[in-house]
Amino acid sequence: MDIIVYAIPIFLVMIVMEVVATIIRKKDYYRLNDAINSLSAGMMSITSGIISKIVEIAIYTGIFSLLAPIKFDSSELWVWIVAFVFYDFCYYWTHRMGHEINILWAAHAVHHQSEEYNLTTALRQSSSKFLLGWLFYIPMAVAGIPPLVFFTVGLINLLYQFWVHTRHIKKLGWYENFFVTPSNHRVHHAKNRKYLDKNYGGVFIIWDRIFGTFQEEDENYESIRYGTLKPLRSWNPFWANLHLYSDMWKDARATKSWKDKFTLWFKKTGYRPADVAAPMKMPDIHGYQNYDPTLSRSRQIYVGVQFFILIIATTGLMAVYHTTPTWFDALWITVLGINLVLNGTVMEKPDQAMKLECLRFGITGIALAGTAALLPVASIVWVGLIVITAASLACLRVFSDKHESGTAAIES
Ligand SMILES: [Zn+2]
Ligand SMILES: [Zn+2]
Repeated sequence: MDIIVYAIPIFLVMIVMEVVATIIRKKDYYRLNDAINSLSAGMMSITSGIISKIVEIAIYTGIFSLLAPIKFDSSELWVWIVAFVFYDFCYYWTHRMGHEINILWAAHAVHHQSEEYNLTTALRQSSSKFLLGWLFYIPMAVAGIPPLVFFTVGLINLLYQFWVHTRHIKKLGWYENFFVTPSNHRVHHAKNRKYLDKNYGGVFIIWDRIFGTFQEEDENYESIRYGTLKPLRSWNPFWANLHLYSDMWKDARATKSWKDKFTLWFKKTGYRPADVAAPMKMPDIHGYQNYDPTLSRSRQIYVGVQFFILIIATTGLMAVYHTTPTWFDALWITVLGINLVLNGTVMEKPDQAMKLECLRFGITGIALAGTAALLPVASIVWVGLIVITAASLACLRVFSDKHESGTAAIES
């Protein structure tokens, strides 16, 4: 069973606690659509990780076996301590390059697209970072850090970063000097000019202090605006992962410069060929209206319930994928991905809900029928949930809310 299966309920409980604190304190730190989109990106990342992890493990283990002159013993405590610090140092550079290089930003931007800042933002992870992210950890493999130690400290590093994605915790005194905290990570997610491209550390903030990228949160400065300078403006988690690659692909096709066609991917973030577009200017972040298409209360409840079922299904897949055939895992990674995309699209285009939901139930039903023999109990449970939600769909009159138009809000 994947360790993430144990972490998911803890994440959910902490998110619920933060939502309750937000309501009690009368803050506006949460929006259902934004939270669902962040969690959808996170769920896509962990399910596609079933496949991409195989690639990451193969690359790291291969380099470790072939190139490490000394292989350290994972039973030594000091190896774990050194590896933990070493990992965070490499993380600092992968994260910094993730902001500074076009093709790396295309992967990392997913984590920054939320225009809110809360614990769901922490789970908003890219599905494509495995493609090039491993490059920055080669030094650990060559230095002889065993794969078990490497992947475990990597997981601890990632888990640490969860709690810092909150606006409820202010500054933490001396702790701010050494560690990544909610305050200095808020700066990292801000798109205000003073805060851009700062605070890249994962656990330790000392790397930013050493390499000149540290910026303290300034209470006297303008209020923080979260998100990316080139906003996503969509609730489609698949598009969230693709849209910057797509932009670069279009630029590479449009430019007449053969040099640019090949090099624009590796240039500084935001670079576009001169014959395609002028360099991007700093947009007016304070005049910017967050992406928030209207959705009636009944559809919010409906989408929320559907999404909760998808969380259960995703957790189920993460619990069984070690025991099921690869084709089964690949099929359900795809089907769950389609479910997440269509659930997000209902939030964008509520007037298309009927069509989208029929499509979703159709695809899921066929997949359930085709794989029921492997997991009969899970299939029966899911069919039951689909029947229940289909009934609630009718009760909530989700298809007949003619008064709202999501598309109007999208265009505004
Ligand atoms: Zn970042
Ligand atoms: Zn973050």
